[in-house]
Amino acid sequence: MEIYKTASQLRSALESGEVSSEEWVKQLIQRIESLDGEINSHLGLDKESALGQAKAADQRRANGESLGALDGIPISLKNNMAIKGQKLTCGSHILENFESPYDATVVEKLKAAGAVIFGRLNMDEFAMGSSNETSYFGTTRNPWNLERTPGGSSGGSAAAVAAGFCPVSLGSDTGGSIRQPASFCGVYGLKPTYGRISRYGLVAFASSLDQIGPLAREVDDLADVLTAVSGLDPKDSSSYPETVTGGSSELNGEVKPVIGVPKEFFEYPMDEEVLSSVKAAIAYYEKQGCEVREISLPNSHLSVSAYYVIATAEASSNLARFDGIRYTHRSKDAKDLMEVYFKSRGEGFGEEVKRRIILGTFALSSGYHDAYYLKAQKVRTLIREDFSKNFEDGVDLILTPTAPTTAFKIDESIQDPLTMYLNDIFTIPANLAGLPGLSVPCGASSENLPIGFQLIAPHFKEMSLLQAAKLYENGNEAHLVRPPLGN
Ligand code: GLN
Repeated sequence: MEIYKTASQLRSALESGEVSSEEWVKQLIQRIESLDGEINSHLGLDKESALGQAKAADQRRANGESLGALDGIPISLKNNMAIKGQKLTCGSHILENFESPYDATVVEKLKAAGAVIFGRLNMDEFAMGSSNETSYFGTTRNPWNLERTPGGSSGGSAAAVAAGFCPVSLGSDTGGSIRQPASFCGVYGLKPTYGRISRYGLVAFASSLDQIGPLAREVDDLADVLTAVSGLDPKDSSSYPETVTGGSSELNGEVKPVIGVPKEFFEYPMDEEVLSSVKAAIAYYEKQGCEVREISLPNSHLSVSAYYVIATAEASSNLARFDGIRYTHRSKDAKDLMEVYFKSRGEGFGEEVKRRIILGTFALSSGYHDAYYLKAQKVRTLIREDFSKNFEDGVDLILTPTAPTTAFKIDESIQDPLTMYLNDIFTIPANLAGLPGLSVPCGASSENLPIGFQLIAPHFKEMSLLQAAKLYENGNEAHLVRPPLGN
């Protein structure tokens, strides 16, 4: 459908003069106003600013000064990335009234590429969750079925792209938060290599794992956005010097990657329909002439335990800054300084965030640090080495399911954190190893809920991931199927 133009299709329409960026942005705003009441993917939308940016892009194009692939293309951001002068809430009560005084590096780079910085998207509070249900501002609903979660924590980013509210969004992924919602909502979601994209201006959850990445309805768009936002940033010492170049124009070559299928991932309980869709994707690659090898990642079953020690430890330290003093919610009942800290944090954070701060503080406390944090770091090394061994043995890419299930029902798992945590089993290993991972839409269940498979590549091989995804996209139609939204 028209409104579902991908970024590259919109670019052609802008180039031919079929539509202007301003007209397109107006249509998207209308669509959001009529349909997002139920979906709740947006926490905010600065219409005036978006229309102003779109007009400026149209003007540049009219003057023959277009800035390239993303000029005039609307891109929405998970609301944990700083946009100057706009609210930056991270889905939390504690930051409900905080406005960012500066732009994140990704925002600066997108602006420099001419993109229209569009909606601010809903998310699990501080990106902690797999269902968007921990957002203080209400859960996001899955456009495919409003009784289901869109996944999380970048649930708003996935739902907005799936619902045709924007062609591309950015999310963040610490343990699967781009890939799992992408798979639940039937779109692509790329978590680049750790360090590929600057984290400056991304509110930190677990700094050794966090990574920003794009979600879109076609592979080419992921490549163009990655090209625009990657690269060295003096403000993020973990950013990698090399920028991805070339964008979607680099994706046209013939590829026949050697694909590793880790046997342990297929021994884990999962929905029958997920298993059969993923097996069909493997068969497709074989038919294209790719060698498929069974491989082993023997320590991957330890990944969830290691992650929930490392991520909570880092979160407990990162979230210490939200103390009621400078920019956060401050309790009205506090009588002295200690009460300002305790009550502001007690009132401002939700249950899941508190649970993680407590867990992480415990894991780091003296006497327990070696037993938990240090041990988890050792497990992390083992997991990274498992991947390296396979890549050294000639495996180009690893293929797995993205999540063991399709989108689950709202309220179904939120009371049971352990079940929720275990759902991240397939996505967490790539974060622990710092590797790029991509979720590719590959079909739907009998209940019409999307299914995705995951591709994992060696460090900095995002373009190989995208090329392999394009090989799949060229022969399959899952990415073209739209949710039943009534128009
Ligand atoms: N679901 C995982 C968690 O709750 C991953 C979150 C993320 O990647 N931000 O921690």
